[in-house]
Amino acid sequence: MTEKIYMSAPDVGQLEEVAVIRAMKSGWVAPLGPEVDAFESEVSQRVGVSNAVALSSGTSALHLGLLALGVKPGDVVVTSTMTFIATANAILYTGAEPFFVDSELSTGNISPALLRESIELLKSQGRSIGAIVPVDLLGKAVNYTEITKIAQEFNIPILCDAAESFGATHNGKPAGSWGDASIISFNGNKIMTTSGGGMLLTNNGSIAQKVRYLATQARQPVIHYEHTDVGYNYRLSNVLAALGRAQLSRLDDMIAARRSLRSRYRDLFSAIEGVEIFDGGDDTEDNCWLTSIVVDSDHTGWSTSELLEYLATFNIETRPLWKPMHRQPLFIETPSLTNGTSEYLFENGLTLPSGSAMTIEQIEIVIASIQQFLNK
Ligand SMILES: *Cc1c(COP(=O)(O)O)cnc(C)c1O
Repeated sequence: MTEKIYMSAPDVGQLEEVAVIRAMKSGWVAPLGPEVDAFESEVSQRVGVSNAVALSSGTSALHLGLLALGVKPGDVVVTSTMTFIATANAILYTGAEPFFVDSELSTGNISPALLRESIELLKSQGRSIGAIVPVDLLGKAVNYTEITKIAQEFNIPILCDAAESFGATHNGKPAGSWGDASIISFNGNKIMTTSGGGMLLTNNGSIAQKVRYLATQARQPVIHYEHTDVGYNYRLSNVLAALGRAQLSRLDDMIAARRSLRSRYRDLFSAIEGVEIFDGGDDTEDNCWLTSIVVDSDHTGWSTSELLEYLATFNIETRPLWKPMHRQPLFIETPSLTNGTSEYLFENGLTLPSGSAMTIEQIEIVIASIQQFLNK
């Protein structure tokens, strides 16, 4: 059997190797150091924000971002039900309760109309809403125009979970630059990686300062170790920041590779009734991190699980979309406002191999295998 083709394998090579060795040879192997400072400044420039704090993961960035916005036990934090568990876990770490909101059909992103309804409902129950955490699903930015309006109207801060959307835009303005603060992830399967890492981005200097402080054990600025708050050890290492800088220099090429893969899939499925590319109808602003399809099996006569199993026999990895949070056993008692859209997407969506490191041969194998399945 041929080598496994992953859904989104890390895309690292010579350039990254050189960068990591450079950082090691410099002697800055401890967390923090000049590579971290340079990485923060390069990412903040790319996104167009004045502050960036490099952290050990996207999850830690979410956690500290919420704390810096003042989210506290007893608050409710309104977020998308269609997301990776990390979004919801970070809310739980603060002692707040998540409230899950359903999606738009075309993108899977939080529905602004349901968001408004959720806030009105929570207000009528006398709940204190600590933050809104919209999630840019699979690299498509949420409708920040609408969400910002709603947040301003109700005076609620926004922490954007842009873990999946680095490189994407909404109305030409980069993902990561919206809201009071945003987080991005550099986990191994994301559009670019530091093997593990994340970053908090904000134009608000006091949020950035608070996050930096909490991420380094909340140490007071004195010569001995003095502490008045609970702190965390959440900073990114200097070695990994060097890896991130090499990846950042290739980000546009990696996005271009994923975008061209998407257009191959679009061509492949264009004549197949009942199959839609899950792209919100426009991928010029999308970083095309993952390409998924949504299948109406009444029209196709086959389901996503049949395609998944068929491709698995060729050692090709595909996966369903995120299982909605309100359907997770962990959140059986957690309040939500849903209308079935995210469940439909979970049941009928499938993510195809989308990595920028895929070779031409691997792409041809995937396309040919899907074609074979369609011809069966
Ligand atoms: C990956 C991801 C995270 C978490 O990032 P890590 O770096 O893996 O901690 C958070 N939210 C979403 C939507 C993600 O996809």
